[in-house]
Amino acid sequence: MKYLQVKWTLSGAHLIDQPHDRHALAHQFILTYGFPRMIRFKIFGIPVNVQPFFWITMAILGTSFLPSSTPEKDTILLIGLFVLAGFVSIMIHELGHALMVRYFGLPTAITLHTFGGFATYPAGILSRPKSFLVTAGGPGLQILFAFLASLVLNNPLITENQNLTFFISVLYKISLFWALLNLLPVLPLDGGQLLHALLGPARIRLTLYISIGFALLGAILLSQVGFMIFPIYLIFMAWESWKTLQINSPR
Ligand SMILES: [Zn+2]
Repeated sequence: MKYLQVKWTLSGAHLIDQPHDRHALAHQFILTYGFPRMIRFKIFGIPVNVQPFFWITMAILGTSFLPSSTPEKDTILLIGLFVLAGFVSIMIHELGHALMVRYFGLPTAITLHTFGGFATYPAGILSRPKSFLVTAGGPGLQILFAFLASLVLNNPLITENQNLTFFISVLYKISLFWALLNLLPVLPLDGGQLLHALLGPARIRLTLYISIGFALLGAILLSQVGFMIFPIYLIFMAWESWKTLQINSPR
C-alpha cells in the first residue's frame, strides 16, 4: 500500500489526509521504515510492531507514577507492571481503531511508538461517517475496558493481592486518562478527527481554530497537574494546526 492514512493516538505528527502532501508522506515514511522494530507479532490477524521507544517512555512515565511509599525492592517490579499495563491499555485503544478498519474491509496494521501508537489504513477510501466510527472505536473500546477494570477493582478477591491491585488500578487509570486525553478536540488527536469528520472539509478552518483553542487550554490545565510532556505535545499540536490554517487560508 503506497499511501496510508494514520489513525493517531498521541503524537505530534502532521495530520495525513492529503495524498499529495509531501511533508506527510515523508513523515509516514520515517515512521514506517525509520525506526527499528523490536517486537513484531499478530493479534486477530492484525500485524503489530512495537518500537523500543515505546517501552522506554512507558518506563519513564512509570517511575513518576509509583506511590511514594513503594519499598525499594519493589520498584523494578512495579515499573514492570506499569509498562505492561500501559502496553495492554494502548494496544486495546489501537485495536479499537484497527478492528473497525477491518470491519469496513480495509487492511490495517498497528505500531506502538514513543507516547502512544497508531493504526494505519489506506487513505481517502472511507466516507465521513465510517471515518468517524474508525476514530471513535479507539477511545470507545478503551473506555469500556476502563469500566471493566473498575468492576474488577471492586472485587474483594482481587484486592487481597497488592501487586495485582496496583496493576489493575494502573490499567484503569491509564485507560481512562488516555481515552479522555485523546478525545480532546485537537488535531491530530482522535477528538480533533471526530470533529473534522463531523464538520467536514468545508469547515476545516473552524475545526483548526477549535483545535488551537483546546490545545492551548489543555496545555494550561495539564501543566497544573505536572507531567510537562503532555502540555509540550499539545503546544506542538496547536502550532501544527496553526501552520495548517495558514495553508488553508483563503487567498
Ligand atoms: Zn486513537
